[in-house]
Amino acid sequence: MKTIFAILTVLLLGSCETKIKETLNQSTNPEITVIDTDFSKGRLTLKQTINLKDVERFHGHLCDGLVQGFLGIKVGLHVLYPNGILDRTNTRIVSKSSPCLTDAAIYLTGARYQYNTFYVDDSLKDGFYIMQSIDQHKTVKIQLKPDVKPPEIDLLGAQAIKGTLSACDLDKLKSLEDQFADYLLTSDPETNFTVTELTYFKWLPLEKHNYTKTDILNKNITTCK
Ligand SMILES: [Zn+2]
Repeated sequence: MKTIFAILTVLLLGSCETKIKETLNQSTNPEITVIDTDFSKGRLTLKQTINLKDVERFHGHLCDGLVQGFLGIKVGLHVLYPNGILDRTNTRIVSKSSPCLTDAAIYLTGARYQYNTFYVDDSLKDGFYIMQSIDQHKTVKIQLKPDVKPPEIDLLGAQAIKGTLSACDLDKLKSLEDQFADYLLTSDPETNFTVTELTYFKWLPLEKHNYTKTDILNKNITTCK
């Protein structure tokens, strides 16, 4: 009897440990299930899971904007697709011009400029994405709730774009952005984002191509001494 009890305890502890590891991994590397066609002329049958690490490789680095975009789409997609699976053949999206937000938007949704399923619009009010299902025309606006993002990030960020941030303050900005990304990843996305269904939205693609790619402006700044 004692032996059986000991074995059961070991098994139980083992499974708890696995669960904790899975939960941690899920929180720092969230996933989205998507569906695509299965070959160049294929049918809509290919389901796969993509995660934040995948988007990081596509984008180049992990940053708060990438995390914000990923989690915003993860929360918003359930309104467009109640089964929780993002149809990458049926989704179009408008994004603010941040290089991180735009990369998350096109990678996750399958939307592309050349097929008129993606465009950038910095005049979006109270939101950073507008995402729509093409067949149903269900539309959501996705925004960060007020006070979720520390204002210092945007203040220092604006200086970095102007080229007036010192090397040491650049490191401070990175640390603030990393902390903010960690916060987003370890708290409930439902409490950080607002998803508003839009009953009337007109798709008005803009053809502007000269946005500044702000994540390469400081690439030659020296290290902080
Ligand atoms: Zn980025």
